[in-house]
Amino acid sequence: MTRYKIEYINSEDKITRRVAKKSFKVGGYNDLPPKLKPSTENHFVQMMLHNTPYEMEHRQPCHKDAPGQAASAEGKQIGSMEIFWYHDGTYLAISSWGESASYWEGKLCDHDYETTTQKMCYWEGVCKKCGHEHMIDSSD
Ligand SMILES: [Zn+2]
Repeated sequence: MTRYKIEYINSEDKITRRVAKKSFKVGGYNDLPPKLKPSTENHFVQMMLHNTPYEMEHRQPCHKDAPGQAASAEGKQIGSMEIFWYHDGTYLAISSWGESASYWEGKLCDHDYETTTQKMCYWEGVCKKCGHEHMIDSSD
C-alpha cells in the first residue's frame, strides 16, 4: 500500500500538481497531460482492477496552433479525455474520437527510490528526485 501525497496547488486553473515535495506543470482543461504515451486496453483494465486512482480529471485538449480544433497525439485525434491520476504522479487516460477509444498513460516523475526502512515483509523508500514516499507491506 502507498501513501497518498498528491495535490493540486492551484485548483482554479489546474496548472500545477504536487507529488510530495516537488511540483509539476500538468496543463489545463485544453492541454494534453505531460509525457503522454500510448497504452493498451489490457494495461488500462489491469491497472483499474488492481489500483484505485486518486482522482479523475476531464479534459478537452485542443490543437496548440489551431484553438478550437481537437488535439492529436501519435497520429490519433483526441476529442474528450478522461485522466485517472494515481498517488505517485502516474496516470492513465482514455480518449475518444468518433466511435473509437484510445488508451494512454504517463508519469510526472521517473521515481528513483532510496530505501529508508526494510524489514521482513515491509519496505519503505523516498524518491530522490521528488520526495514521494512509497511503502510496500507484503504481509497483508
Ligand atoms: Zn519521484
